[in-house]
Formats: sequence, C-alpha cells, structure tokens
Amino acid sequence: MSVLGGGILKGMGVTLKNFVGSFFDKKREHRLFTKGYTWKFDAKKEPLPKHAGDYDHADRRPADDATTSVTHYSRNFPILLHDGGEPIDTIRCVACKICERECPPQCIYIEKRTDKKQDATGKSQFYPVTFDIDVSVCMSCQICVEVCPFDAIVMDSQFELSTSDRFGGFLMRREDLLKSNDYYHAIHPEEAAARDKKIADENAAKEAKKKAAEERKRAAEAKSKAETEEKKEDTE
Ligand code: SF4
Ligand code: SF4
Repeated sequence: MSVLGGGILKGMGVTLKNFVGSFFDKKREHRLFTKGYTWKFDAKKEPLPKHAGDYDHADRRPADDATTSVTHYSRNFPILLHDGGEPIDTIRCVACKICERECPPQCIYIEKRTDKKQDATGKSQFYPVTFDIDVSVCMSCQICVEVCPFDAIVMDSQFELSTSDRFGGFLMRREDLLKSNDYYHAIHPEEAAARDKKIADENAAKEAKKKAAEERKRAAEAKSKAETEEKKEDTE
C-alpha cells in the first residue's frame, strides 16, 4: 500500500544519503565540491578582470585535469578554430553565416570580408572581419557547432569567466574566440581526433573523386581522338 507523499520522502532519503555519503566516500568527493579551480581569484590581491577569460593563463592548468570535475565531454561556450601559426592566417571560418542564422537566441554577429585570402590549405577563402558571440546570451546548445560545414567552431570547456563588466565583459570578439586545433585536442582529445579523421576522410574522398573525373576525361579524349583517326582512315 502506498503512503501519500511516500515517493517524495523516498527521493529525499536518496538525496540525504548521497549528500552525507559524499563527505565520507573518497570516490564521490568531487560530486560535492569542485576540488580545484583552474584559476583562483583573490580579491585582496587583484580586482576582478574586466573581460571574461582575462586571467593569469601562465598559472592555469588544463580545465579537464584530475583536480576538477570538468571532463572531456564538458562544454560551455563556442570557440573558433585555427590551424596554427598566426590565428587569422589559418582561421577555418569562411564567414558563411550559417551559425549566425541558426543560433536560437541570436547571439552571434558576423561581418564577412569582401576580399578573399588563402586558408591553411592554400585555398582562396572569405573570412570574418567581425565575429562576436555574446556569451551572456549563449545557451551552450552547440547548434552552431552542428551546422558548421567547415569544422570551424567547437565548444570550449573553460568555465571560469567571471568579470566585473556584466555587459561588455561577456562580448567575446574574434580574437578572444580564436583557439588552435592543438588547444582543441588538449581539452577534447577524442572529439578532436574524430573530427580530424572526418576532415582527412572527406579530403581523401574529394581527391579520389577529382582523380576519377580526370581519368574519365582522359579516357573520353582518347576515345574521341581514336574515333576521329578511324574516320580519317575510312575517308582516305
Ligand atoms: S551554443 Fe547555441 S546559443 Fe551559443 S552561440 Fe552556439 S548556437 Fe548560439
Ligand atoms: S563558424 Fe562555420 S557556420 Fe559559422 S560562419 Fe564560420 S564557417 Fe560558417
């Protein structure tokens, strides 16, 4: 026979058991506390940064190291990938604006350059002259990542973004958003490796298709040449 409110009491019992257990069970310690922040703020020594993410990077450990509860699968806000060297020279984003259109709360703003430049593969591409994300509006849905056809935008796992400037401080500009593919591998190793493989497979498939088309063209030209010579011989 069920007692009125019995389910609620049972649920509260489980919560209480886990709460108390987390103080004593070594394996579950991290569930109650974040044991170590990647950056610790000391108000006596320094003011809060003016801009989200403006912390002492030299002192920062990877966000997913064993001292935090942040895992490889965590995500917070998007970053833009580049392939090394000077970020703007190897930026993957071609300013197609698909992510801007699809972002549910419309917190991405992009302006495309009217002229092209070479990307990391030497291909001539457009790129964004402005790429802003208002992270105070972003809801971390990852739709921008899903819709990007160029593997140019992925999710970061940096969670320490407090700032004293509640408006401008959360507006991430292109330069704030640009992070290297190596950084992506450090924070999400499995996902980054899978994405690299997908890009390599797609490039190999494109290359194979191109070669097959060239072969077909050569074969058609040879056939046409042979037919022309045959006709010429017949008329002689
Ligand atoms: S994660 Fe979602 S809300 Fe945030 S910028 Fe991407 S699409 Fe917009
Ligand atoms: S991040 Fe991707 S979807 Fe968004 S504008 Fe750049 S290339 Fe297009």
